Amino acid sequence: MSTADYQFDTLKIRAGYNPAEHGNSIQVPIYQTAAFDLISTERAHRILRMEELAYVYTRVGNPTNAALEARVAALDGASGAVSVASGMAAISYALLNVGEGGRVIVAAQIYGGTYDAYKKIYPRLGVQVDILEDVNDLEAIKALIKDDTRAIFIESISNPINVVADIEAIANLAHKNGLPLIVDNTFATPYLLNPIKHGADVVVYSATKALSGHGSVIAGLVLESGKFNWAGGRHPQFTEKHYTLGDRSIIEALPDFPFVGRIRTNLLGLLGATLSPFDAYLVLQGIETLSERVKKQTESAQKIAEFLTTHPKVSWVSLPTLPGSKYNALAKKYLTKGAGGTFSFGFKGTEEEVNQFIEKLELFAYHANVGDARSLVINSAQTTHHELTEEEQSKAGIKPETVRLSIGLEDVNDLIADLKQAFEN
Ligand SMILES: *Cc1c(COP(=O)(O)O)cnc(C)c1O
Repeated sequence: MSTADYQFDTLKIRAGYNPAEHGNSIQVPIYQTAAFDLISTERAHRILRMEELAYVYTRVGNPTNAALEARVAALDGASGAVSVASGMAAISYALLNVGEGGRVIVAAQIYGGTYDAYKKIYPRLGVQVDILEDVNDLEAIKALIKDDTRAIFIESISNPINVVADIEAIANLAHKNGLPLIVDNTFATPYLLNPIKHGADVVVYSATKALSGHGSVIAGLVLESGKFNWAGGRHPQFTEKHYTLGDRSIIEALPDFPFVGRIRTNLLGLLGATLSPFDAYLVLQGIETLSERVKKQTESAQKIAEFLTTHPKVSWVSLPTLPGSKYNALAKKYLTKGAGGTFSFGFKGTEEEVNQFIEKLELFAYHANVGDARSLVINSAQTTHHELTEEEQSKAGIKPETVRLSIGLEDVNDLIADLKQAFEN
């Protein structure tokens, strides 16, 4: 089945899977197996040198995971993808794969866990980090590019305050300097935004969030465009002889997807944060309703954000599609279907009052997750970003009064009524 000409909503149900190759099973089967038959010593020889691509061991590949990888690659216009055990594993593997022995430029407005990893973990593993205070400050990016810079990492819509990145401008600048642009597209999902179509070279997801959409699984993905020239000089790890390939480099063995191919063979293979086939299946099932869920969440979020802007206990609302937003023009360019279901607002009141508000909410669960079918609330500065210093929080745009909402699939009027009653004390 060639799916190349189908629209997004067809691809999200059909891409990357052909029932005829799987006993005519309509659903993608869960291949609950650790290993695959090598058949012959001659075949084993070819597979292990990547002269033939085939399943060997589920740590590095499995047909259920492969269906998920191919499906998300189709949704994003990617040449290849690799699924991993969490969003953090996706980010770590992307960064370790690109950055070894060098530096990466990272936007300050990012997920708290990513920020911590950059500060506390990567430098000790040999990847130095240069923090970019404003993701859209091209002059600042230029000033941070050094001889050993290997990549630029940003979020398309930042967690939790919805800074919208000017992907095309940043990608152009990156490419002029031989650098790939890596985009965490978790908040947008491929339904709202395809970073690759705007010039991104690598896309990472926490599939835990809206991509799977039911708060039932921890999962991540790394995708690549297939267009970046990894032989341009800044990334010798792709052109040198690879230790499993005899005389060949990764680029020679896997010319269409060297980046995710190297993650699979080196990082997934040897560090081992593998997504289980059952969890891959759960993500696939979630993706079947991606458009329907995100569309409704985006519409409800817009209504709730509009309600909040009129409330006396609210000082600001971060949804970029609001007319007054600093990112309104970028949202019009990149987020034509809306800015998703997650955003933050400033609570006008004491810390005690904000705590009361959170505890009084009945439909918004107090959770450190987003993109769930249920609505969620969290006080970001005290939880997901609590470990940042006050200065780092302020650079990340997180003020002490920040309350993040992730809008679920409940009736929007019930949600607004719940917020209203919680504001009253
Ligand atoms: C949640 C999140 C992550 C981390 O993903 P996990 O699946 O929780 O490991 C990374 N980036 C963003 C933007 C996130 O929201």
